[in-house]
Amino acid sequence: METIELDGAQGEGGGQILRSALTLAMITGRPFRIARIRARRSRPGLLRQHLTAVGAAAEICGARVTGAEPGSQSLHFVPGPVRGGDYRFAVGTAGSCTLVLQTVLPALWHADGPSTLAVTGGTHNPAAPPADFLVRAWLPLVRRMGAHTEIELVRHGFYPAGGGELRARVAPSRLVPLALTERGRLVALRAEALVAGVPTRVAQRELEQLSRTFPQIDGRVRELPQREGPGNAVMIEAEHEHVTELFTGFGEKGRLAERVAAAAADEAAGYLAGGAAVGEHLADQLVLPLALAGGGRFTATACSSHLTTNLAVIGRFMEGAPGVERADGGYLVSL
Ligand code: AMP
Repeated sequence: METIELDGAQGEGGGQILRSALTLAMITGRPFRIARIRARRSRPGLLRQHLTAVGAAAEICGARVTGAEPGSQSLHFVPGPVRGGDYRFAVGTAGSCTLVLQTVLPALWHADGPSTLAVTGGTHNPAAPPADFLVRAWLPLVRRMGAHTEIELVRHGFYPAGGGELRARVAPSRLVPLALTERGRLVALRAEALVAGVPTRVAQRELEQLSRTFPQIDGRVRELPQREGPGNAVMIEAEHEHVTELFTGFGEKGRLAERVAAAAADEAAGYLAGGAAVGEHLADQLVLPLALAGGGRFTATACSSHLTTNLAVIGRFMEGAPGVERADGGYLVSL
């Protein structure tokens, strides 16, 4: 089969181009070669999280791989048939286990039998979907599309210590298209401030800050065992009739709790002020499941370069002409 040539510097120029290519190669059986991996990032090439995703994909489908070394900027991936099984993958650093999980889950929907997965690493990392986002925002939508998948957050892992764990159970699934153009009415607005080995006061200050923007918010502090830290994140969950969105502020040493919460509040307020069904991050993470379902459409508050780049990668592996057009103060994404 003809090898697909990809440029890792295209569009967003980050790790998602590689991860989506791995998923699509496993499912379509089409080999690919990618050059200039993560060329637009400050540390280009393969980091631990990407190497773990490559290794996980290779193990699941018995792929032949060249170039899978730390820092490598090119990779050749020749997939074999996807096999269900019991898999364990370790990122080894605080690199995101959610991104590794998202790379292999769709392939396991196409496997010859059920699977279990355990991935260790970071579960609440800046610039990646936190485990709660995967479980509360992304998973309900892919389950609605017919994916037989359960995800459990076993242990939190924060930057820089890592050490978190996610587990999943997956059964072969045939996805059906999703039409998600309305978010419906607001059912609940909740906040959760996580602290692990960090003073409780930090979480309380974050919730106080959030209540300045959202006086009606139902907030709670969640103290995690000290061994899961040090770490802090504050999450705002907006549950609407047809979709749940989640916005996260990531605590870091030297950053005021009020600033962490204000960043999450701004993001949530931007979404709540609009009318589209999904926010920026959910949008770029929904298009691959939609493509696998053979189509669908949704409205999004933003059209990020992650979204357009992901659509372009999908277009290299699959038929169809995905489109993004302006609609009602947001965007309509159709596949
Ligand atoms: P990349 O930058 O190419 O490694 O891709 C990062 C992925 O993480 C994209 O799918 C982003 O939408 C996603 N992401 C980044 N930050 C968040 C967040 N706060 N919540 C949910 N998803 C996120």
